Amino acid sequence: MVTGMEVLYGSTRNDEKKIQASQAILKGLSEDGGLFVPDHIPSLEKSLKDMADMSYQEIAYEVMKLFLTDFTEEELKNCIRKAYDSKFDTEEIAPLVEADHAYYLELFHGATIAFKDMALSILPHLMITSAKKNHVEEEIVILTATSGDTGKAALAGFADVEGTKIIVFYPKNGVSPIQEKQMVTQKGDNTFVIGIHGNFDDAQTGVKNIFSDKELEEKMLRKGFRFSSANSINIGRLVPQIVYYVFACAKLLGNGKIADGEEINVVVPTGNFGNILAAFYARNMGVPIAKLICASNENKVLYDFFRTGSYDRNREFMLTSSPSMDILISSNLERLIYRIAGNDAKKNGEFMAALSQNGQYQITEEMSRQLSDFYGNYADEQETADTIRTLYEKTGYVIDTHTAVAGAVYGKYREETGDTRKTVIASTASPFKFTRSVMNAIDSKYDSMTDFELVDELSRLANVKVPNAIEEIRTAAVVHNTVCEKEEMKETVEKILGI
Ligand SMILES: *Cc1c(COP(=O)(O)O)cnc(C)c1O
Repeated sequence: MVTGMEVLYGSTRNDEKKIQASQAILKGLSEDGGLFVPDHIPSLEKSLKDMADMSYQEIAYEVMKLFLTDFTEEELKNCIRKAYDSKFDTEEIAPLVEADHAYYLELFHGATIAFKDMALSILPHLMITSAKKNHVEEEIVILTATSGDTGKAALAGFADVEGTKIIVFYPKNGVSPIQEKQMVTQKGDNTFVIGIHGNFDDAQTGVKNIFSDKELEEKMLRKGFRFSSANSINIGRLVPQIVYYVFACAKLLGNGKIADGEEINVVVPTGNFGNILAAFYARNMGVPIAKLICASNENKVLYDFFRTGSYDRNREFMLTSSPSMDILISSNLERLIYRIAGNDAKKNGEFMAALSQNGQYQITEEMSRQLSDFYGNYADEQETADTIRTLYEKTGYVIDTHTAVAGAVYGKYREETGDTRKTVIASTASPFKFTRSVMNAIDSKYDSMTDFELVDELSRLANVKVPNAIEEIRTAAVVHNTVCEKEEMKETVEKILGI
């Protein structure tokens, strides 16, 4: 494979026009509704052995420079330095914890104690740098739909970043109390948080519609604003997520847990398909990943897809204890569909049109064959809770509900296949973010306690200090209380911007 080559980005729905990474970061979503994809996946230049002793920041540079080829070394290192600093409560940034025959890659040590911080702490800096590089004069308006974690992580990333405003929509009754409290207490004059009467897919669809509204776009430009997206469809989010898979493998090698060239499996609790897609890209860069294990909760659209080749969102939407995975349209899957369709924008566009018209599409057998590296399964609510309790009782290690979905699915995978390869489980949130569900899983007696009593009890049980992100909201004042109907999202945005 070629290295050191420029990577350009085209839309999954019309790939004739190619743009630079910085332009793709600024746009977020392509005008045709497609997602930007790299025209090739670069290979790692350094071996895992060479990277075994590197810091997270150094590995971040090694990975990101290969994708963001129009950034200078200084620009990129500057972004990395500002992102992965003391906002994280551990110098390792993403520690690996061994428990019960698996390695939990803890991606929750950032400002909002969930894995979205891994990307959203760097995205604002990538975006501001991209704006400067492209002589963008307008103020950047970040518009985001969230199922809970993205919202707070984006707010924390963009709060008070000069030249930006951030507007976050979340399903009013579809996020955990702590997630909601985290968002509605967000400081920063440029931050706006709005609850909608609807679910996450309604919020996401509303945001997509606003993004593709040409009239609104022109009006915005006249008033000196331009939209961008912090959702996981932005390649400025996807690329930083590849880093921790490279980092995890390099560390396992450095610690003597795997031999040079030894393959591992990764298990990813999946919603929008961004995290696992990053693992897939890491694999294509040369990271020795055998199986990509895609774990779903009861919203098991992806499990059905991997089993049958049919993606079908026509089903009941379930509210589960892993709300960040309560998703029926996994946006980032489009990037995989495009690829297995032979990098064919026309074919991909047809599938996506079917999805939007009928809520369903069926991939061909030839496409299905290219998915053999993926394994999909799901865990119901009981299995998720049992996984938390069993792991705690066995090892004293406490995981959150999302990570537990992955743990449960990994158990099923091992039972089904007998595959005992070393396995990394992406641990996507701190148990302190979903304290009630976690504590109830351990023992139903905890249900009578208040949220913050539970936090203190969890701290005692797990022998882990209460994270700052939680301490902060104990007493913080609610500063955002706007609620709107799902049909009113556009007007709400116009009102906020005063246009
Ligand atoms: C967002 C999120 C997920 C799902 O990640 P995707 O990239 O959307 O698949 C899983 N767990 C937690 C805690 C999250 O916040």
